[in-house]
Amino acid sequence: LPSDHISHYDLNKLTTSPDALAKKEEVLILTPMSRFLPQYWANLQKLSYDHSLISLGFILPRNNDGDVALKQLEEAIKDASTNNQLKYKKITILRQDSNSLDSQLEKDRHALKVQKERRSMMALARNSLVFTTISPTTSWILWLDADIVETPETLIQDLVAHNKPVISANVYQRYYNEEEKKNAIRAYDFNNWVESEEGLKIAASLPEDEIVVEGYAEMATYRPLMALFYDANGDQHTEMALDGVGGGAVMVKADVHRDGAMFPSFPFYHLIETEGFAKMAKRLGYEVFGLPNYLVYHYNE
Ligand code: GDP
Ligand code: MN
Repeated sequence: LPSDHISHYDLNKLTTSPDALAKKEEVLILTPMSRFLPQYWANLQKLSYDHSLISLGFILPRNNDGDVALKQLEEAIKDASTNNQLKYKKITILRQDSNSLDSQLEKDRHALKVQKERRSMMALARNSLVFTTISPTTSWILWLDADIVETPETLIQDLVAHNKPVISANVYQRYYNEEEKKNAIRAYDFNNWVESEEGLKIAASLPEDEIVVEGYAEMATYRPLMALFYDANGDQHTEMALDGVGGGAVMVKADVHRDGAMFPSFPFYHLIETEGFAKMAKRLGYEVFGLPNYLVYHYNE
């Protein structure tokens, strides 16, 4: 046997600390990507956590969108490496073996009737991504969607500083307010929420294989939504306990995934994908949090 054929890793020595950078803890950034946005890539490159401690993992759909995004991603990687700016520990690019929706237009992918199918496909993609890229040295996993185009440069340090099993940033969007004739921001991701009596009632009334989705008038849950708790004058470090999370920018201790928390592609307590993940993490005994005053920005299409 070659001498490097057997690897020993003591998972007890793998730490997740609020001062992760000082402890040289490794972070795996995972991005399902149906479109490549240069702004996403530029923002990623600017993250100030030591890149040699960061690994990147991407999963792209096997459709035409995926072909296009893959070319652009590879091009961006090539450019960065010729400019000697590519210091990541490892980059893994996966092509999905499961299906995706054909139309990714915002109005199509946000229609209520496609949510179960779409979110279930996304769940499979996220699971493939995390289960193939997590390594014995991964301390933290940052889920970062491909259309998150602006975050603080200290995103990783800021999220790990809270030292929570799961913690989600608040996903907003920049837009031009026509009435006030000025640039403004608005809430984008409504999947970060606190469960409500009404939400539980709706769930209890549903057949076993039906899901509750958030942000649709047809299904009024009255759940407190983190997006609406943003206070421009508030403390960036304010935490709020959550029951559901979105996937925009979420930091997860790798042990949460190692313990088996994944993205259910099937209704789990009537929840799927990232919201089902939050539920599963909680059932495993982990607490889930969000930072209402810590904003990251979603692309405005
Ligand atoms: P929304 O922000 O809730 O509308 O959801 P998105 O459509 O933006 O999807 C969330 C993330 O998954 C983004 O990073 C997308 O680029 C990515 N994505 C969307 N559809 C697919 C897909 O079919 N396969 C993969 N691998 N990624 C996808
Ligand atoms: Mn998106």
